Amino acid sequence: MKLQFYNSVTSEKEEFQSISNNEVLVYGCGPTVYNSPHIGNFRTFVFYDLLNRVLLQNGYTVKNVINITDIDDKIIDRVNNEDIAFNDLTQKYERIFLDQSDSLNILPSTFNPRASEHISEMIHFIKSLIAKGVAYNVDGNIFFDTKEYSKYGKFVNIDDDNLSREDNELGKKHPNDFALWKAWKDSDGEITWASDWGNGRPAWHTECAVLGTQLLGESIDIHCGGIDLKFPHHENESAQVEALLGNQFANYWLHAEHLIFDSEKMSKSLGNTLSVSDLLKKYSPETLRLFLLSSHYRSKVSFSDKKLDDSSKMIDKIDRFINNFDLDTIDIDGVEYGSFHLSFLDALNDDLNTPEALGVFFDFINTINKNIDNESMTEDLKIQSKIFINLFNSIFSIINTSLSNKESIPKNIQHLASAREEMRNKSDWNEADKLRQKIESLGWLIEDTKNGQKLTQKK
Ligand SMILES: [Zn+2]
Repeated sequence: MKLQFYNSVTSEKEEFQSISNNEVLVYGCGPTVYNSPHIGNFRTFVFYDLLNRVLLQNGYTVKNVINITDIDDKIIDRVNNEDIAFNDLTQKYERIFLDQSDSLNILPSTFNPRASEHISEMIHFIKSLIAKGVAYNVDGNIFFDTKEYSKYGKFVNIDDDNLSREDNELGKKHPNDFALWKAWKDSDGEITWASDWGNGRPAWHTECAVLGTQLLGESIDIHCGGIDLKFPHHENESAQVEALLGNQFANYWLHAEHLIFDSEKMSKSLGNTLSVSDLLKKYSPETLRLFLLSSHYRSKVSFSDKKLDDSSKMIDKIDRFINNFDLDTIDIDGVEYGSFHLSFLDALNDDLNTPEALGVFFDFINTINKNIDNESMTEDLKIQSKIFINLFNSIFSIINTSLSNKESIPKNIQHLASAREEMRNKSDWNEADKLRQKIESLGWLIEDTKNGQKLTQKK
């Protein structure tokens, strides 16, 4: 089956067509770094990783951004009300986010830009929107003028009464208008930047619009996020980019549903959250990851200890299955996928249907286990088993053994190296150096030779 995704703009599954032949550009809205992430946040981040891995499996390379929102009211409140510096607070929670992503086997992103390090680009972007006649200034607050942009309402019917009414108090002209820049006020304390309109700070919708276009380009393939970001955040991101540049910002918009806890959406503001750090004291990262991948990303899932226990039992079953084989001695070179493997891939290509893919894998395990019980295993079934174990783990990544050829370079490392090469070609030494550091932190050394970059695993 060809790869297809449910596009939130059309509310239909659509066959995926990438802009370039081989590289897919993906933007995922990242964490606001004021607090430890909860398991609901990681449902979205594991979904980004699933998307990434399925794209890689389909032969694409992926260039992706997960931004770090380090300018936000909640951050400003904490810095001004507690004895903690801005950088100390934001970088502490950024580190926790990256470490937990790593424990949950989420492949590193090409870029994790901090909003606070791209302020001048944001100011430039807002100036261009003012010059274009789609933004206006009220007392140093800059708003997007939705009445000047006829396509506003990509995700919602704007005649609906239940639309967002954010920043009403700042003096905007129309209810759907939204802030691009917020003027400094007493409660902001020292967290402020200078602009042509006075001191203040960029607003969240502008942060993502600028980081996406700066790092990936004016048109990207896929933009994703949690379902609650569809409106107003994604509506407003895309309105800014499309009003300014006149092109479609993202061709596919994918949204992951909520994780439910006691029938309420899990979010930090409701206080019913379970932090990943707490859960990792009780469950393995693989158990959490499998729990998050066991449901389709577009279905609501309620959290329960029983479901985590079920995931843990599934991992035990997979481990017992693998223990039947001496994988290092099975040669799979040049062997093609069989019908089980193809059904597994079809399920994933059908809008990332992980429950169905998981079902196929367990049907396969049950079939092979019968052969093992009947003592009717053949060399071919062993080969098919090893191929499926590798294939399964390239997506679900929950098997805690090193199955791959140790000499081969993992796809995520290759992907970071090609992003670095691109930055070097653009003479962006700063980004290139950050990518080198990231590659090194993952256990690989990179050197530049006459024949290009050379990767070696650290001893
Ligand atoms: Zn965003």
